[in-house]
Amino acid sequence: LIAQQSHEELRKVLRANEDGGSQKLEKAKVSLNDCLACSGCVTSAETVLIAQQSHEELRKVLRANEVGAHFVFDTAFSRNFSLLESQREFVRRFREQAGSPQALPLLASACPGWICYAEKTHGPLLTPHLSTARSPQQVMGSLVKDFFAQQQGLAPDKVYHVTVMPCYDKKLEASRPDFFNHEYQTRDVDCVLTTGEVYKLLEEQGVSLPDLEPAPLDSLPSSVSAEEPTSHRGGGSGGYLEHVFRHAARELFGIHVDELTYRPLRNKDFQEVTLEREGQVLLHFAAAYGFRNIQNLVQKLRRGRCPYHYVEVMACPAGCLNGGGQLRAADMPSRELLQQVEKLYASVRVEAPEDTPGVPELYRHWLQGEDSARASRLLHTQYHAVEKADSGLSIRW
Ligand code: SF4
Repeated sequence: LIAQQSHEELRKVLRANEDGGSQKLEKAKVSLNDCLACSGCVTSAETVLIAQQSHEELRKVLRANEVGAHFVFDTAFSRNFSLLESQREFVRRFREQAGSPQALPLLASACPGWICYAEKTHGPLLTPHLSTARSPQQVMGSLVKDFFAQQQGLAPDKVYHVTVMPCYDKKLEASRPDFFNHEYQTRDVDCVLTTGEVYKLLEEQGVSLPDLEPAPLDSLPSSVSAEEPTSHRGGGSGGYLEHVFRHAARELFGIHVDELTYRPLRNKDFQEVTLEREGQVLLHFAAAYGFRNIQNLVQKLRRGRCPYHYVEVMACPAGCLNGGGQLRAADMPSRELLQQVEKLYASVRVEAPEDTPGVPELYRHWLQGEDSARASRLLHTQYHAVEKADSGLSIRW
């Protein structure tokens, strides 16, 4: 968040996501107070610092002058697009499966920890199965640097876009060349901070969240008034399985599904759900969290014995709410903390992506329609199998 301060060196450190910006920040022993002594940055008319966060008190801090975020958006808004694109991609690939052996299973791609593993270790096997729908962070990158910059009359490189995420791997995702705008020499997401890093910065600043007054969220489409944070059905990793399953059941088989019944397989982080009619399995989905379960899934794929049509894959056991960048509590067992975080997350109002105010409008006007070339460019990406060179692994991104 202090990346837009006038400290050249610090900006460099925070921008160097691919080199582990957070570790460098640590090493640099940068004092936030030193940065705050300089007020030049916050009066800059050209730079717009944007942070995504849904915590009310935190929003106030992010927007306050000492940090300088001019707008604070909720990532749940960009996740609507990621979910809708994933739904459509699955239905298209399900219909294609007869003529395209690699069309299914479709594997969720919103987790950069999993993507890194898939590209580096089993690239040729896995990349054809990865969903091309951008993750919520990278859809927000498109929304902010394309749609929002245009609305504000700014060039994309005049907007500094910061995201607050549950894991360090999101820094890696933001630094992929696929998300670099060559025309303006800018990234879709300029800086990624984990929730733990934000907390550390606030501690340095002597800010106590409970002492602050709540502040409203900003709204990306100007026609929609700012709302409280929203979430999606299906748990703390985004609800990809749930949304794709319901949509596919309706679109492909005309069946309305209300509640999904999960069956745990090897452990609670590997579960499956099926849609059946007259004893016939129509849809077979799974959620595989954590590398133990991911390796199991990869073995099934390698042997040609993967029964699933869709798998929501996440690298962290228990998913994003348990991400490596999340806050840790010294005085509370991690299991108990996770339960509390899950409870808090479940208390947020859920919304169906297709019903979210502003989403249909953005599809119409900003993206020029569903399935348009523009929607494909701004809401999808591509994955790359890593080439193995004689000297070892050579990574293309
Ligand atoms: Fe990050 Fe873990 Fe979530 Fe993957 S599962 S996006 S690594 S927090």
